Amino acid sequence: MFSDFDLILTNGYLVDGIGGEPVKNACVTIKDGKIASIIKNKEIQIKDIECEVIDLEGKTVLPGFINTHVHINFAEPRYIRKWLYSGVTTVRDMGILDTLEISDVIEKRKTILNTNEFPRLIIAGKFITALGGYGGSGPIGISTEEEAIKKVDELLDMGCDLIKTVLEDGYDPSTFGLPKLTKNLLKAICDEAHNKGAWVSAHVSKAKNLEILVDAGINEAAHNVCDKISDELIEKMVKKNIYMVPTMNLYKAFSDKYAAPFYNTCIDNLVRFKQAGGKIAIGTDFIEEDLPWFELGMPLYELQLLKDAGLDNNEIIIALTKNGSEVIGLSDRIGTIEKNKIADIIVVNGNPLMNLECLKNINLIIKNGEIVKNDLVF
Ligand SMILES: [Zn+2]
Repeated sequence: MFSDFDLILTNGYLVDGIGGEPVKNACVTIKDGKIASIIKNKEIQIKDIECEVIDLEGKTVLPGFINTHVHINFAEPRYIRKWLYSGVTTVRDMGILDTLEISDVIEKRKTILNTNEFPRLIIAGKFITALGGYGGSGPIGISTEEEAIKKVDELLDMGCDLIKTVLEDGYDPSTFGLPKLTKNLLKAICDEAHNKGAWVSAHVSKAKNLEILVDAGINEAAHNVCDKISDELIEKMVKKNIYMVPTMNLYKAFSDKYAAPFYNTCIDNLVRFKQAGGKIAIGTDFIEEDLPWFELGMPLYELQLLKDAGLDNNEIIIALTKNGSEVIGLSDRIGTIEKNKIADIIVVNGNPLMNLECLKNINLIIKNGEIVKNDLVF
């Protein structure tokens, strides 16, 4: 029966992303790109096995990681593979910042980027904002509810996976005083996206705007905010199951580079959000490599900042896996190691539940059931 599989990982220490106790001596079987079963070593009859078998010798097996907030320069796509080769098997682009059109990006994803040489790509396209408002390169400006509905439909019909919108007062001289969407327009965007089954993520940096967005119906705050989120608003977010992608490295960069005074407020928001039961996913807002704040590849700096803020390693792993898959709408397919999920799997020498540093080098990376990197030393 075991010859029915394409690949078997034996003797792993399984951290499945769901958050329960890790499983020792675990064996994960893979067939047709999917996880066929999770069993114990002793259930395997070695003599029956004809497919490739990798003995992990107790190393940790985890779901492939998910970075839910990056901005990719699609004109130079080759560097995107650095995410995959670091163990981040899925990334979500949160708005095109270069000069490419959405159709070019969607086409690239269908062709060159749709292989196991690149991470799985989730694409927001462009920001929907007020006419002349904040939002990357050539955002989509709207001024009526009809336009809001039309633009949401167009983006989704084109192949974008979610809707990204924004409510921003400005945080530097280039963004102060820009026009903003009204409550009604934000609600029209959210309602239409939800009618079509799509997720709405919003750029935000101030608590009063977050409140308007929460009332309008967003699914996710694409950032923490830099002033205090009230307990009432946190409660409302948790009740409505609104996720936060805190992008702490972004706020740390503002704090380190420009002596911006709000970093401790960000930490306080994050801690209270977490304590209230709020769900957190990982995003770096990567734009260009500006170390240590914006890392291409494994987001170790962001993970360290989350740890410093009080998340434990288990919470961080769940944010990188299960919660990430929920934010990108693929929780039925990736994000945890469970039967019938797509086999996006990483293996690391060390236990990230004890020490996140071991994530610096991922030894074995599997995407869609195919080995894309294997430097296990036997
Ligand atoms: Zn961003």
